[in-house]
Amino acid sequence: MSKKDLFIASLLGGAIGDALGYTVEFMKLDEIKSRFGEDGITDFELNRYTGKAMISDDTQMTLFTADGLIWAKDRISERGIGSYVGSGVYQSYLRWLYTQTRSMPDEHYDWLLDPQPHEESNRILNYKELFSARAPGHTCLSALESNKMGTIERPINDSKGCGGVMRVAPVGLFLHNDPEQAFIVAAEIAAITHGHPSGYLAAGTLAVIIAELLNGKNIAESAERAIAILRSHPQHEETLKAMEAAIELAESELNHEEAISRLGEGWVAEEALAIALYCALKETDFRKAVIMSVNHDGDSDSTGSICGNILGACHGLNAIPEDWVNHVELKELIVDTAGRLYDRNETV
Ligand SMILES: [Mg+2]
Repeated sequence: MSKKDLFIASLLGGAIGDALGYTVEFMKLDEIKSRFGEDGITDFELNRYTGKAMISDDTQMTLFTADGLIWAKDRISERGIGSYVGSGVYQSYLRWLYTQTRSMPDEHYDWLLDPQPHEESNRILNYKELFSARAPGHTCLSALESNKMGTIERPINDSKGCGGVMRVAPVGLFLHNDPEQAFIVAAEIAAITHGHPSGYLAAGTLAVIIAELLNGKNIAESAERAIAILRSHPQHEETLKAMEAAIELAESELNHEEAISRLGEGWVAEEALAIALYCALKETDFRKAVIMSVNHDGDSDSTGSICGNILGACHGLNAIPEDWVNHVELKELIVDTAGRLYDRNETV
């Protein structure tokens, strides 16, 4: 399995989990079962006009994270100075804000809408699917509209919604050679919009899991390494507790519906990460694990998205059902973006 394959599989896997979960994002488990049957939702609901399974804000923002990293990498290479967050990802999120609101927080950002050198071959703003509102997170919108860039040192708010963690898988892929840096960069990227420690530390933790999967570890080993790095950061207790609960429940005989409900609903970052990790540990089959990760009372598209990111990075493209790959919205852009992210990584 090539590393490029894993980049693509992690982003496609996330999009697939997102698309499966988006249909039931705001439904309780009993509502899901009464509509789809005792097994819950098990397959895509295809849009009747496009024939595709629609992705939500989780995949939209993940694509803007990846594009921002590519942008930053090229600018840093050219100038010899800069940071991933300040030289590309923050700017990319302002573009995301524009797709959702048709405005920028300040007119001096208008140049961001122009074609940039890193997008000669493909341009993210050309995809109309990214302009459609797919239940975007209020915290992400309001933080970016404030015209201030949140940082760990100067928190933008006290939110630990899962909008920070659900978009950082590309960081783990891109910086897999250095998992400790992946943690920090992913946490900083989440802190742009989410100021509560669990909001950004869960993001750092996910990035390490993804990075270590790329480095050939299995999911349990990757989670252990992520926990070790998480422990070295202040205010990690809540995220650590969620991670440990996920691992312990995955090793137990408890049925998965009960186990997931003990982990929470996933509206907050550490719970979304814990539910996704639990499902990825519990079930090695991609289809079964992703189905498990979206059938619960809570934030199904985010837990599905994170679970798909982990499974893709672990098992690769061959493990992902072909019918899902072929029907997920924006497949071509996702594959292309993952490939360009991989190409930049090669020069790290
Ligand atoms: Mg969503």
